[in-house]
Amino acid sequence: MTIDTVVVGAGPAGATAAREIAARGRGVVLLDRARFPRDKPCGGGVTVRCASLLPFDLAPVVEQVVTGAVLEDRAGRRVVRETGVPLTYLTQRAQLDAYLVEQAQAAGAEFRDGQHVRSVVQQRDGTYELRLAPRAARAAKGGGPSGAGGEVLRARTVVGADGANGVVTTQLSFAHPSERAIALEGLLPCPDGVPAWLRGRVVLSLAYLPGGYAWLFPKADHINIGLGGWEAAAGARLRPALDAYCRAHGFDPATLVALRGHHLPLQAPGMTVAAGGAALVGDAAALVDPLSGEGIYAAIASGIAVAPAVDDYLAGATRDLAGYQLALTRELGSELAASRDLMEVFHACPEPFAFALMRSRRVWGAAVALVRGETTYERITHRTGPIAATLGPLARVARRVSRRRYGAR
Ligand SMILES: Cc1cc2nc3c(=O)[nH]c(=O)nc-3n(C[C@H](O)[C@H](O)[C@H](O)COP(=O)(O)OP(=O)(O)OC[C@H]3O[C@@H](n4cnc5c(N)ncnc54)[C@H](O)[C@@H]3O)c2cc1C
Repeated sequence: MTIDTVVVGAGPAGATAAREIAARGRGVVLLDRARFPRDKPCGGGVTVRCASLLPFDLAPVVEQVVTGAVLEDRAGRRVVRETGVPLTYLTQRAQLDAYLVEQAQAAGAEFRDGQHVRSVVQQRDGTYELRLAPRAARAAKGGGPSGAGGEVLRARTVVGADGANGVVTTQLSFAHPSERAIALEGLLPCPDGVPAWLRGRVVLSLAYLPGGYAWLFPKADHINIGLGGWEAAAGARLRPALDAYCRAHGFDPATLVALRGHHLPLQAPGMTVAAGGAALVGDAAALVDPLSGEGIYAAIASGIAVAPAVDDYLAGATRDLAGYQLALTRELGSELAASRDLMEVFHACPEPFAFALMRSRRVWGAAVALVRGETTYERITHRTGPIAATLGPLARVARRVSRRRYGAR
């Protein structure tokens, strides 16, 4: 039997793509190599702009509603900003992702966890053959239904939602992102609840490491503490920097649990994310916001954007999924480009920008409007008038400076 669509990876991108495609009446199988519910390295911060993309409420998986922030600069100066309105919902990925998968199932998608896709090959007739790793039990008995290679699925379309460096990217010869950031996080257990000063607030320590920042995200019974930056500049410093960051905020690094690091892929402009009946979404398409490190928004946005193109292709109205590439460029292309330019300029000389964010109510107001989805990077940069015209060239210079300072990223 040939399935309409197989989605590889059941994070926010894959679960959303599966839900949206199934809701159009198409047959969808959603696969993940992990057993669900599964956790993954992530702050679990879902901005209001991100939550508003979803046609259902995230309340069942929200542990804290963030209405304010403690902003810190590299010298340790801090300001507290309160807004009185929701900015971000703090979740745990194990619960969030399982919930998004439930929504996909409710729309008609079939979910199979514990299914590791080993290979994806396009056939002569344009369909895709996906070979799964044999399950442990099956392997012990000498192989799955199709012998030692494990089960084989055939699909008319494939959505690669398997994160950075996933099997779909590699096997279907999509380009891997040339740049990536790296982040490390740990959990500080708070059995009696998080400290009062942190409830409903996040701590953001701007430019704590080159190309990134450090954070404290309070959840129901623990604090997620982490930091990130460009791999070349921050990679080796992550662990000692995390310990120092704990101590600076009055926490003993020896009490950290569940330490884990992960990459954040950054898209090169013009990267191909669709070919034939295959498309990449979320981290597989390297859609992380370069300035903020937010990835769940683009994961969900791309999962939504891919569905009409898949539906048209399955209906025989188009010959490939190029419509998705166009939609993604239209919806996210200029935003990612503006975020990237701002990131380059910010990290070339972070102090004045951190100062502006911490001291200027106007700049802070723009950041609030951004996470609430009331404005965009593009509108913010346009509002700066003549500065907007120089942002691109400035970013190119800043990039050269940071490359010279830190090497390839
Ligand atoms: C430390 C850290 C903190 C972060 N904090 C935030 C934050 O607070 N807010 C935010 O918006 N973003 C954050 N991000 C980014 C965010 O985590 C990602 O952008 C987001 O998870 C991307 O979702 P996705 O669905 O594309 O991929 P993922 O969530 O990575 O899901 C990919 C899935 O594919 C499965 N998979 C992989 N290979 C296979 C295979 N061969 N076969 C079957 N299944 C496979 C995996 O098991 C996984 O479940 C953070 C990232 C890091 C590293």
